[in-house]
Amino acid sequence: MDVSKHYWIDVAIQTPAHSQIAGLLSYRCLFEVQAGQLVRVPLGQREVLGVVWAVSDSAPADMPAKSVRDVTGTLEGLPPLDSAWRQLVQFSAQYYQRSLGEVALSALPPQLRELSSEQLARRLKKQKSDRTVLTQTGPALSEEQQAVLAQMTSAPGPFLLFGSTGSGKTEVYLQAVARMLQADPQAQALLMVPEINLTPQLEERVQARFGAEAVVSMHSGMTPAQRLKGWLAAHAGHARIVLGTRMAIFASMPHLRLIVVDEEHDPSYKQQEGARYSARDLAVYRGKLQNAQVLLASATPSLESWHHSRPAAEGGRYLRLHMPSRIGTGLLPKVRRVDMNHQAKKAVLSAPLLAALQERVERGEQCMLLLNRRGYAPVLHCADCGWKSECKHCSAFRVFHKIDRTLRCHHCGMTERVPRACPACGNADIAPIGRGTEQLEEHLGELLAHVVRPDGTPIRIARIDADTTRLKGALESQLAQVHSGEVDILVGTQMIAKGHDFRRITLVAAINPDTALFSSDFRAPERLFALLMQAAGRAGRDARQSASSEMWVQTFHPTHPLFEALKKHDYPAFAQSELTERIAADLPPISHQALLRADARSQDVAQGLLNAARETLEAQLSADPATAELVMQVSLYPAVPMSMQRVADVERAQMLLESPHRMALQKVLLHLHGVLHQLRSDPEHKGVIRWLVDVDPQAI
Ligand code: ADP
Ligand code: ZN
Ligand code: ZN
Repeated sequence: MDVSKHYWIDVAIQTPAHSQIAGLLSYRCLFEVQAGQLVRVPLGQREVLGVVWAVSDSAPADMPAKSVRDVTGTLEGLPPLDSAWRQLVQFSAQYYQRSLGEVALSALPPQLRELSSEQLARRLKKQKSDRTVLTQTGPALSEEQQAVLAQMTSAPGPFLLFGSTGSGKTEVYLQAVARMLQADPQAQALLMVPEINLTPQLEERVQARFGAEAVVSMHSGMTPAQRLKGWLAAHAGHARIVLGTRMAIFASMPHLRLIVVDEEHDPSYKQQEGARYSARDLAVYRGKLQNAQVLLASATPSLESWHHSRPAAEGGRYLRLHMPSRIGTGLLPKVRRVDMNHQAKKAVLSAPLLAALQERVERGEQCMLLLNRRGYAPVLHCADCGWKSECKHCSAFRVFHKIDRTLRCHHCGMTERVPRACPACGNADIAPIGRGTEQLEEHLGELLAHVVRPDGTPIRIARIDADTTRLKGALESQLAQVHSGEVDILVGTQMIAKGHDFRRITLVAAINPDTALFSSDFRAPERLFALLMQAAGRAGRDARQSASSEMWVQTFHPTHPLFEALKKHDYPAFAQSELTERIAADLPPISHQALLRADARSQDVAQGLLNAARETLEAQLSADPATAELVMQVSLYPAVPMSMQRVADVERAQMLLESPHRMALQKVLLHLHGVLHQLRSDPEHKGVIRWLVDVDPQAI
């Protein structure tokens, strides 16, 4: 057979995790193909979707031509994925230690895999190529906003916009997009937000400004059909603006010119399964790749970005832009600390806070109470025998939910009716310990039952957390009630602290923020500070009321430096002191980390794999002069149980790798990959269920 007219191609296909196949397979193609094209190929008995990664005229040397199978077909009418997209995927796979095929395929809308050629052709035909872009003019910009936009024209970036809550950052994004759309009739912009359903307002704002046709959304809450439609529009260049969560970083956008990462410090930019990528970090990489401007923005930047935006003379790589003032005459709320050491023992709400709440409600103002614990009580307890509502399957307590009288494990989901009596000793008097949002809401209702609003009607208390918002649309309608003033006091978890533009809230209170002060996770203070600043940012957003707005913190440690910095709204001071500590302890952003985690039925087996991997790796690296240096550059720590040691009857252990050199760490991880595959076949490690690597982990 004459094979000279055929093409030999490498195709990226979805491969199972830990498979030896790197995700590229060779096929023969009987028609002309280009890299980036989507094809259907046979795999075993199945036919799967793949992305053409490389095309060549000659058969692969390491394979007898006969054993190479033929491509079944191509997805006609779909332009190839461009080289920038492929490079982004390739880099991500390599950096986060996953297969190329897995990253490539999971970046595509799932429906692409299922559609027949006819179905796809119909979808493509329905596309509107003449999507109009409106660009309504926005408000006149503040001086700070103007200065920021001016700097964005005179420097290439990446930029870190450090702007107070309510300083008008969103308006800067919109104007930057508008300017770019005007300058380039094809240009596309990517606007990334941590969680879209928490900020439905932003979606409306973007659509109102540019017209619904120009904007597509990308997030996990969409139906497969919606996702495909949005993806196709972005891929074809018809959608000028993509508004999405972390997954949107992989959207195919051939004319990408601007990437905005709103609330860039938010942990939800880090994917927590599969390829554990950081969409924020990839945004910077992608910007460079496609020559797109990158704007990271936050009122409390991540220490990583803060460090990167130090002066260039000191090695900074990002340009820091600053918007310290709130729009108009708006002021940031006054921070008040309540020393809980001087309050009634076991009081959840201090007397002064209760009085302040009453006063605000009687004046017709709104308040917001933050408690990072949902349910009624975190644990049920028997005082007679000491029984506690532990989960049988996890190293955690099951949480008491009074509303449906259940005990629920928030880790494995195990749910049971609350027992009538202590399961261990029969004592009928089992009691909740600690408080969650459900109890806070109930408690508040009792304590403030007598309070009436200015119009004489009774006080209205509402709660927003993962339990109240389970149903589709529930969060939107609950938020709408707050916005329209149907709620006087809102109780909730950190969900309510995120970017909402509440106009009527004048008092925000953190009920019990202390636990994060003494966490074993070195990032806990950074998270707490960001959360409290963000929560404070919900108060006094209307300039007319901002002068009297307050942020209350109930704490047993009122003089803690974190609260001192909060009182002054002084993120730079906080960041400086945290950075000093991180530098002293060789922690990120000074060093780079990766975690290797192993899951097994027993802790010994999980740790056994990790320790064996470490010893084998060190021996292998030291034996070869070419790699011996790596052992000096990268620290490998002994295996330890994870802080959540057992979840759903699976024991989890982890091993930390740390290095001042990112490249050295990457090289070691590559070797580690090989070592793990070697060890896997050893009967000693049979009991290992899975392992995974987390590069730049967000929680240790
Ligand atoms: P941030 O994102 O920094 O918290 P926003 O962009 O949401 O702040 O702005 C806060 C409020 O100020 C919004 O209601 C917004 O519409 C309004 N705003 C922003 N910029 C201006 C401006 N230049 N003139 C008038 N109002 C503005
Ligand atoms: Zn459990
Ligand atoms: Zn008991």
